[in-house]
Amino acid sequence: MTAQVIDGKAVAAELRRGIAARVAALPFRPGLRVVRVGEDPASGVYVRNKDRAALEAGFDSATIHLPEATGEAELLEVVARLNADPVVDGILVQLPLPRHIDADRVIAAVSPGKDVDGFHPLNAGLLAAGRPGLVPCTPKGVMHLLRAAGCSLAGARALVLGRSGIVGRPMAQLLLAADCTVTVAHSRTRDLAAECRRAEILVAAVGRAGMVRGDWVAEGATVIDVGINRLPDGRLTGDVDFAGVSRHAAAITPVPGGVGPMTIACLLENTLEAAVARRGA
Ligand code: NAP
Repeated sequence: MTAQVIDGKAVAAELRRGIAARVAALPFRPGLRVVRVGEDPASGVYVRNKDRAALEAGFDSATIHLPEATGEAELLEVVARLNADPVVDGILVQLPLPRHIDADRVIAAVSPGKDVDGFHPLNAGLLAAGRPGLVPCTPKGVMHLLRAAGCSLAGARALVLGRSGIVGRPMAQLLLAADCTVTVAHSRTRDLAAECRRAEILVAAVGRAGMVRGDWVAEGATVIDVGINRLPDGRLTGDVDFAGVSRHAAAITPVPGGVGPMTIACLLENTLEAAVARRGA
């Protein structure tokens, strides 16, 4: 079997076109503010890409870049100001934050209705309770990819590899909400290969290059690779051995060009949803 490659760039571009059309029809421009603290180079690239995508889709977007030495109290004041600003619909505090700032406290300070990253404990709780709320962008993007690939979800055995608060856990909740039978695996899971082989849908979010090998994957499975790992030669690669797994899977996402582009598209989707919910358009 040679797997169908799920083109995340194309799915994301279509989603962004749809969002831009909906924004153009609104009587206001949804406002997104990204807060960046310090000079983490990867964050710089992400923040620029988010800003560009938001502007292209017709959003009122801006980045607030604060110096590395910014104190937690000062950052909390910035968040409070954005919470109160009527033109701001979405607030994203770019992680990681400098070590002297408690990221959990900052995330909890963002107004839940403007929490377009979906990381606020209230939104995490709503997702766990199966109720509507703002959902983390990367797992939300994975759900779009599964649906775009025509994957049948109800009753499917899904395995999520990784249990982080930003990917693995919300991913498992979304698959459960879509009626999959969900297993969550992690670093303490016994016989990971056997667990993976049982899955009809396998989502890898571990951060270990090429860890999921061809013989870990059932014939005909759909494999989504969330991992982003930088190789010593500078290239990016996923958590899945793409060539080996492609021989067994029915469909697979590449890295780059799979989940990555969906994350920004879903940030725009969340900002639009937050704006419409808050302003009642
Ligand atoms: P994380 O917080 O480091 O979590 C990694 C998870 O993998 C943990 O649950 C850990 O288990 C598990 N794990 C680690 N080593 C393992 C092993 N040998 N066997 C089984 N499980 C293992 O990472 P994350 O933030 O979820 O990110 C995961 C990957 O996705 C990274 O490569 C990251 O760069 C990428 N990512 C991509 C996007 C995107 O837009 N495409 C967005 C976010 C993240 P324990 O809980 O037991 O420690």
